[in-house]
Amino acid sequence: MGPGRAPPAPPGSRIALAVSILRAFARGAYNRGMTFFAPFYISALVVVVGVFGVVGPALAAVKVTVTPSVVRQGDVALIVVTGAAGAPDMDGSVAGRPLFFFPYADGYAALIGIDLEARPGKTPWRIGFVDRGGVARKSAGAITVKARKFPVQRLSLPASMVDLSPENERRAEAEAARLRTLFDTISSERLWRGRFTEPVASTGKAEGFGSRRIINGKPRSPHAGADFAAPAGTPVVASNRGRVALLVEFFFGGRLVALDHGQGLYTLYMHLDRVNVAEGALVERGSIIGAVGSTGRATGPHLHWSAELRHARIDPEVLLRLPVRD
Ligand SMILES: [Zn+2]
Repeated sequence: MGPGRAPPAPPGSRIALAVSILRAFARGAYNRGMTFFAPFYISALVVVVGVFGVVGPALAAVKVTVTPSVVRQGDVALIVVTGAAGAPDMDGSVAGRPLFFFPYADGYAALIGIDLEARPGKTPWRIGFVDRGGVARKSAGAITVKARKFPVQRLSLPASMVDLSPENERRAEAEAARLRTLFDTISSERLWRGRFTEPVASTGKAEGFGSRRIINGKPRSPHAGADFAAPAGTPVVASNRGRVALLVEFFFGGRLVALDHGQGLYTLYMHLDRVNVAEGALVERGSIIGAVGSTGRATGPHLHWSAELRHARIDPEVLLRLPVRD
């Protein structure tokens, strides 16, 4: 829960809730589709029908919170809907794209991925469902995406090191397309549970997520992963439960494993020296999937770890801080 969370109504107090909603209306915030309680953010609660006594008193107030309170490029936010237990057909979207909910606490939750190049500003979300009393409920708000300062690296390199041969160009292009096709596949079942774990025991801090590289004056695509320095042969473990969705040898990524954690969340492990798992296998959090290497385009042994949530390139290290209980 972020600091921007709405002041909680005392348990069972429909009046307090009504007051906070009326306040939101008075400021016109709800009509704009968002309710801000803090400089950056959101925590809208809307019980449009329930609070005015149309619905029986047994129904809990529905509350929607989005955590963390400040969302930056590359972040993952968690949207939690409480007081909606057992509601079938929880439905929602962010920026017009569908959200995938899973049962959580006495309601539902879904992850929102903010691409590392997402435009800063307001991103609207909405949810809707029919409660157990058969009443349609809805809520809407907006997330404010803040720009994040990424390091910029300007490099001058011999053209032979930078420009690919037509053959390699085609290969890299086809491999990128293969990854995009993989990320298009959204398995409905959530396989991951609880916290995510670091994929490698590394001596230093991971670095490089989002860094913009300008090589010989030409901007290249930003670095979409975190690099962990570790000696060749260091075990690499699954950050969370998932299915081995891809096991390939790519021009840039080298020997690569992609884990499908379900509902559109993938983590990728690149430049591996060896791989200990087979495609299709279900692996548990912390189980060894391979070893650090320098296959593909790598200057030395390290693990390139990246994560993708429904086409949003997210900072994998943000997953380690995801406020989700088991
Ligand atoms: Zn890297």
